[in-house]
Amino acid sequence: MFLIATLVAAALLGSVTSTPNVARYDNVRLYRFFIETEEQVQMLQNLESISDSYAFMGHARQVNQNLTVMVSAHKTAEITELMSRYRLQGTVLLYNMQALIDDEQKWIMPKNTPPEDFNWSHYQHLDAINRWLDWQVSRHSQLELIEIGASYENRPLRGVKLFSNPANSAVFVECGIHAREWISPASCTFILNELLTSGRPEVQGLTQNFNWIIFPVVNPDGYRYTFEGDRLWRKNTKPYGVCRGVDLNRNFGSDWNGPGASSDPCRYDFAGGSETSEPETQALVAFLRNGVDRYRIRTYFSIHSFSQLIMFPYGYTSERVRNYDDLVAIGHEGVAAIKGKHGKKYVSGALIETIYPSSGGSSDWVYAELDVPISYTFELRGAPDSNNMFLLPADEIIPTAEELLEAFIAMLQKATQLGYYENNSVKVDL
Ligand SMILES: [Zn+2]
Repeated sequence: MFLIATLVAAALLGSVTSTPNVARYDNVRLYRFFIETEEQVQMLQNLESISDSYAFMGHARQVNQNLTVMVSAHKTAEITELMSRYRLQGTVLLYNMQALIDDEQKWIMPKNTPPEDFNWSHYQHLDAINRWLDWQVSRHSQLELIEIGASYENRPLRGVKLFSNPANSAVFVECGIHAREWISPASCTFILNELLTSGRPEVQGLTQNFNWIIFPVVNPDGYRYTFEGDRLWRKNTKPYGVCRGVDLNRNFGSDWNGPGASSDPCRYDFAGGSETSEPETQALVAFLRNGVDRYRIRTYFSIHSFSQLIMFPYGYTSERVRNYDDLVAIGHEGVAAIKGKHGKKYVSGALIETIYPSSGGSSDWVYAELDVPISYTFELRGAPDSNNMFLLPADEIIPTAEELLEAFIAMLQKATQLGYYENNSVKVDL
């Protein structure tokens, strides 16, 4: 009887049974708070620790701090009451996250997109990116595919080498370590395409003077999952108890599990079971250790979103790096180049001074452990008070990638002027 009733109900509610099992964010709101008192800091810290109905973008740390928090629909009344009781200033940036996610669907190319149709006016599935990489490798003799291992779900970790001269130093570009930051793989494939095809002398200079190693999606399991499971997933997908996923940019051996990382597998910034515990991190670490001298990797760019920042080490300590002044100067060149392209305002500085404390990040690790002197983490569009966060409209992919390319040009020129790429010379003895 129960079975019949269930079947009848299923037939009547056909749309319910055919609804895919994907995460939904109906009426999830985005708040932007301005913290003014120590009491508010405490309240927000407590709220984050006791409830996963609030998704914090960063942590509450101090007064005079802005903080973006995504609030589940069933907590709307609770947060309103808390804001009133604690006199917490805040605005609602967005009333329904799901509407943005739904709108974005029309800007995603089909999974089976042939490489000839690959473009940057849409976002692309992992399969389409891989097919496009294969196609580019088949068309450009100087481009070589590299596979450095496999992800937790056994997807290949793929990148490309674009080497014009063995004497050049190499620039390593790491993209897509955080799954939901779709603008990162999109910008990195755009830049690869420019390096392969541009007639501009400045861009040709990049390939003549530098060798390039580009990994468009270093977290392929997570990236796929943002298309087919949960649009706002950040981590990889390896299970730890009832929760899963390690924040791969907290899993490196740079003060692992220190400030700005969590030892709770249910948190978005879970550092992992141990230092370099994840197959994706292990593969990157092995490749970089082996390749740093072999390929003369002197520059590391890690590409994220959002907040419009150009940051250098350290994230885990306020101690200043030895070439701090140079990294400030190079960062300023990047900011100016971006502003000059489409007028966007980026900010540059040390990670810990610019965004928030974070430990176990890749750019800190390559700087401290491998002595790569030019190491930056980029946070691309949108602005820190953006109301779409990781759902950057697809018509902003090309301008965002164009301004990133300008930043690369300007920063590499400045670092060249400062002597960082002279053969066999090390300006700063790290
Ligand atoms: Zn990120």
